[in-house]
This record gives sequence, C-alpha cells and structure tokens, in this order.
Amino acid sequence: MNNQLLYQHGTLGALVPGLFQGTLAIGELLKHGDTGIGTLTGLDGELIIMDGVVYQVSATGQVMVIENGAVPFANVHFAAFKSAGDIRGAAATAQQQMLAALGTHNLFAAVQVRGTFAHMTTRAVKAQQRPYPGLAATAADQAVFTREQVAGTLLGYWSPQLYAGMASPGFHLHFLADDHQFGGHVLDYTVAAGTLQTQVFSDIQLHLPTADSEFLNADLDGDLLGDITKAEH
Ligand SMILES: [Zn+2]
Repeated sequence: MNNQLLYQHGTLGALVPGLFQGTLAIGELLKHGDTGIGTLTGLDGELIIMDGVVYQVSATGQVMVIENGAVPFANVHFAAFKSAGDIRGAAATAQQQMLAALGTHNLFAAVQVRGTFAHMTTRAVKAQQRPYPGLAATAADQAVFTREQVAGTLLGYWSPQLYAGMASPGFHLHFLADDHQFGGHVLDYTVAAGTLQTQVFSDIQLHLPTADSEFLNADLDGDLLGDITKAEH
C-alpha cells in the first residue's frame, strides 16, 4: 500500500446537480483505504471510516456500523499519521494550527484530532429521494446536532483551493464520539484538549464512475463552485 496516496471516488462537483446515486460499493472503497469520510446513495447521512470500520451518522442522529451500500463521493487513505503535538481552541485557531503543522496550503492532507471537545456542532443530510434535488437544496434539508464536552475523533482532509470542484476546498471534517452516540459532518467546534495528527499526500487517485450513465450525461460545465461552498461550509 502507498500511504502517500489519497483515494477519491467521485467529485464534489457532480453532487451539485444532484448526482447522488452511489457508484462504488463500500467493500470496494475499503480496498483503497482504512480511514476516511464520505456519504451514501441519496446523501443518506455522513460517513466516517476509522480502522477499516464504516460508521454512518444518519439524520436521526443515530450512528451505525455499515458494511453494505454505495458511495457517490468518498475519500479514503491508509492511515500512517504523524504526531503534530497538542491542539486546543476554537475552529479557526485549531485550523491555523493544523495548517502550520502541514507546512503548506498546497498539498492534500489528512488531519485527525483525538481528545475532548468543549463544543461540537455537526450535521447529517436527510436521505434524499429521486428525483434528487441539487446539493444546495439539501443544505436546507439536514439535521444539526450539538454536544458539549464530548470526547471523540475529528477526522478529515485539507484540499487546496486550486482543486475546488473536484474536492471541497479547505478543511472537510467529520466527527465521531468515542461512545459512538454522536457524530456527523462538522460545522463548528472548540477543542478543549486534543492531540493533532497529520498525513500529507504526494499523490491523489481520482476514481470516476465510468459505467454510470447519469454521470456520463450530466452537464457539469457550469459554475458549480458557489453551490459547493454553500453546502459544505
Ligand atoms: Zn462531509
């Protein structure tokens, strides 16, 4: 395995017009990494993958371990994190520290914070039904959850602005509580006391759904970036 490789299935841009059909089975995805984030067909909740186990945080707030299903979009890699010391503070401060630890804005990288969070706000999109709406509409159809003083793992990726459209530019972070009772796509947080780990990638493999006629025929030529920013941040 190559732990300098970030594997991505699908593109964030393809979600903008509503291409929510899963086009890669979970089992296939796990061949390319044991750690990561993603979503299922219909944007049915938020996935966080740790140690090869896939957790789905659904819009009910329930966290389940899943082995089946398919992803329209996911990032995975084989974990080989490097310790980057202690971290604390509100999201803006913590993310400055993450970037300082990466030493650059210009590489794809994974970040992981384990510890206690004074405050954590997450969301999980509700499972969308066909005909699928666009990504911007789903941002209004999501459940938002908040916890105080929660122990858990913040896990996700930094993507350089240059690759917006393929990825969500900036940090894309998911969370799972240690008790597996809470998690989701991270909207805001404050680290009370945590340890930061980072993993920088030299390579990215973008895997696209060559057999999905909806993807093949979709019009992705427009300006999709505004909707990505609206939905993911
Ligand atoms: Zn997410």
